[in-house]
Parts: sequence; structure tokens; C-alpha cells
Amino acid sequence: MRAVAVITTEAARAAQRVHRASPVAAAAMGRALSAAALLGADVKEAFRLEVQLDGDGPLGLVAAEIRQVGGEQWVRARVQHPEVDLPLRSDGKLAVGQAIGRQGAFRVWFEDAGGARYQSEVPLVTGEIGEDLAHYYWQSVQVPSAVAVGVLVGTDGTVTASGGVVVQALPGSEAEREAVAERFLGLQHLSHRIAEGATGEDLIRSVLPEPIHWLEREPLRFRCQCSRRRSLALLAHLPPEELQALAHEQHGAEVTCHYCRRRYRFSEAELEALWREGANRSQ
Ligand SMILES: [Zn+2]
Repeated sequence: MRAVAVITTEAARAAQRVHRASPVAAAAMGRALSAAALLGADVKEAFRLEVQLDGDGPLGLVAAEIRQVGGEQWVRARVQHPEVDLPLRSDGKLAVGQAIGRQGAFRVWFEDAGGARYQSEVPLVTGEIGEDLAHYYWQSVQVPSAVAVGVLVGTDGTVTASGGVVVQALPGSEAEREAVAERFLGLQHLSHRIAEGATGEDLIRSVLPEPIHWLEREPLRFRCQCSRRRSLALLAHLPPEELQALAHEQHGAEVTCHYCRRRYRFSEAELEALWREGANRSQ
């Protein structure tokens, strides 16, 4: 058996703060952050991976990205409609599946160290993210996987705990599977256990039988790598007539980062310079 656990509490709290997200939108981003971190644990070299939940629910697109930068793991998340809130389900849980939608795609974007990009997707199963990730693992690597992702939101509406666990049954583990599956049911209250202080190791210990061989432990940080320079580079892709219109009619442009909501303002002169550069290149 193989297991990975991630604690994404700080990242989920930061995502909720920058997007001013409702409880259900924050829970969806937290679960997506855990899904991205779990998938990212399988990649060893420099990479960028994004999980996208593209469903027909009122939140619109929900996405979380993990990027390896100099031995650190940086994560960030976005949601199209962070203000959308829904009543709790009858069992008292946040209605994440309903908010994301049950029709749509669970998509994974991957960029390797050389800049090559790959994309794969499977249909959404429930929109609750845990089941969707388990389905993705089965479809993409044909390994039976149990996934739990959870976010606890306190009575004040803010995230108090977030994390996830995946356990995969490798060939030869048939004899252990039933017992592990039974112990895995205890992770239904994953976010409560994290709120009480459980570490990733504690979560794995509660599922896997001994002996456990620990592989590695890596820090995860909420961090956006957007910059003024990158935002300007995005504007450079606009057609010249649009750049000219922005410069002369709007007297500048503003670019807002979808991940951290930071705003970058560009002057009329900067846009004109960009337009002139583009015109020179195309000659
Ligand atoms: Zn940003």
C-alpha cells in the first residue's frame, strides 16, 4: 500500500482571504488544493500541475495549482464566483458537490521541467472532489485508490482545517485491502481530526498497518508567482488594435491576477510602447 497525506489549512485560509470567499467556495478551493497537492506528490522533478473542477454548478470553474520552486512547493487557488453561498446539506455539511455541479470535467494540467504541457480529464462523478480524484486515479493509472479530502469551516465562516489523504492499493496488497478500507472509513471526519492537531503522519498511521516506511515530508506554502512583468507579457498577446484602444480610450489598463486578486496597473505610455514593439516585430 502507498499513502500520501497533505495538510492544506494555511493555504486554504489564505485562498479564502484573498478571494473573500463564502464558506462553500472556500471549502471547494481547500479540497481542490488538497487534490493538487496529493497529485503533485507523485511528481519528482520541477513541475507545475493544476487541478480544474469545471462543473455546471454556481461556483463556476474552481482550480488549484501546485508548483515546485527551488525545493519548495507553492500552491494557489482560484474560483470564478467566490461570493456564491449555498445552504448546508441536510447532514450539516457544506454543499460542495452542488456548488461545483455534477456534470462537467475533472481536468489535470501538467507542465514538466522542459515546459512540455499535458492535459487529461475525466467526467465529474459527484463534484465533491474526493470521489472525483479517486475516479481520476483509477482512469489514469488503473490503481485502486481511496481518497478523502475535507475542509472544516468554523461558526464564523472561516476555514479552520483542511487536508487530504490518498491510499493506493499496489499489486500484492490484496490481503490487506479489506482491513485498510475499513480503517479508511474513519477518515470521514478528516477535517475534524486536523482541527484537533492531527499531522499527516497521524492520518497515515490511522489507516495503514505497520510497518510503515516513511519516504519524505515537504513544506507547502500558499504563494502566487504573478508579477507586473508577467502581466505586461499577457497584455502583449492582445491584438494591436485592442492595445491601441486601451491606451487611447481607457488611458491605461489594469490586470487582475485570478489567483491572488493582486492588481497591476499599466499606463498609456506603457501600452503604447507595447503596441510599438508588436508593430516592429510583425514588420
Ligand atoms: Zn497572483
